[in-house]
Amino acid sequence: MSPNTTVQSVTILGATGSIGVSTLDVLARHPDRYSVFALTADRRWQVLATQCLQHNPRYAVLNDESSALLLAQELSRQGCKTEVLQGADALAQVAAHNDVQVVMAAIVGAAGLLPTLAAVEAGKKVLLANKEALVMAGGLFTKAVKDHDAILLPIDSEHNAIFQCLPNHRPDCLVQGLQSSGVRKILLTASGGPFRNTPLADLRSVTPEQACAHPNWSMGQKISVDSATMLNKGLELIEACWLFNARPDQVQVVIHPQSVIHSMVEYVDGSVLAQLGNPDMRTPIAHALAWPERIVSGVASLDIIATARLDFSAPDYERFPCLKLAQQAAARAATAPTILNAANEIAVAAFLQRKIRFDQISQVITSVLDKQEVSEPDSLELVIATDLKARQIAHSVIAAF
Ligand code: NDP
Repeated sequence: MSPNTTVQSVTILGATGSIGVSTLDVLARHPDRYSVFALTADRRWQVLATQCLQHNPRYAVLNDESSALLLAQELSRQGCKTEVLQGADALAQVAAHNDVQVVMAAIVGAAGLLPTLAAVEAGKKVLLANKEALVMAGGLFTKAVKDHDAILLPIDSEHNAIFQCLPNHRPDCLVQGLQSSGVRKILLTASGGPFRNTPLADLRSVTPEQACAHPNWSMGQKISVDSATMLNKGLELIEACWLFNARPDQVQVVIHPQSVIHSMVEYVDGSVLAQLGNPDMRTPIAHALAWPERIVSGVASLDIIATARLDFSAPDYERFPCLKLAQQAAARAATAPTILNAANEIAVAAFLQRKIRFDQISQVITSVLDKQEVSEPDSLELVIATDLKARQIAHSVIAAF
């Protein structure tokens, strides 16, 4: 870092989650570069209290009102000066605040859309982990990035890898189109999750604990289940199309069980560039935080000798019907991805609450996509109404099982 670089203030939306905790770990390694401005969560006030005592942000925001009261009491008891705010408006406020330069968007699910959009509309450097925001409202979101001169950098390890493999002279990842970069296609790698080799008949009876036990990555519950169904890879395909201005048929999903290659880019001259590293989200987080510079992340050096082999195969759609549903929604476009995303959120929550079986997640999504009309997502109001309607239909589908 140059000695004149000023310290950047960072808001972390979703600070108590897996990405939030990894982000705080990276920030704590660089107090000369970054300070924590605001930390937010939904309701886990005890975790947020510990983070506030350690990082001293100006604001802490909880979505849930009673949790916010408990946090305020605890911080005052501990003599911590962090101001506690509550609710969705407060999330947007700390994302768009004048004193903030960088926003880590790491709320899980559709709840992340509005605060992330608030950061974009305030022209911030936005580090995007919340892929659901882009899946729900990709056109409106990417337009807002351009209109407000925000800088959008991908945190998803695959998209961060793709970004690292693309020509490195763009202001952010929203390139003009793959072709103008000389890129023929994107190879989006996927581990295949915990059930890559499980006998198909056994998938009916897998438990939430088994679905959340990812072989390579430690993540929040929702994305862990999405990885087990491979709907996550479908969301990532849609995310890649928006971020890199690609068509769905230019994104090939490749099973790579070791999760050492985080994705690849094939150029028109036949060159294939890959980004490799240990499966630890602190690498993409550090990369996006410091881009275009590089900083230490705390991630161990990749032992390529111990890695020994890298395997690749095509996805099995009988095993992973959710991936096919996402590919179809990507091709159908309009509000199909919004409906897919909302139906999946309700189905995954029902699976985690043991209300439906693992193999019924894809059935819920199929049913909701069949029942709901798609339309052009030309306003945020329409996207939100579509999302709400898909959730209602998903609840009624689940109730009828
Ligand atoms: P977690 O479930 O671990 O954390 C989610 C965070 O969002 C928590 O801080 C949670 O607060 C907060 N939150 C949940 N609901 C709301 C709400 N309604 N309003 C405000 N805050 C809310 O998720 P992850 O960290 O695993 O994932 C976060 C995002 O990053 C997801 O979109 C995921 O797809 C993406 N991502 C994650 C990766 C990973 O390795 N984990 C990799 C790539 C992408 P509370 O603790 O109070 O519940």
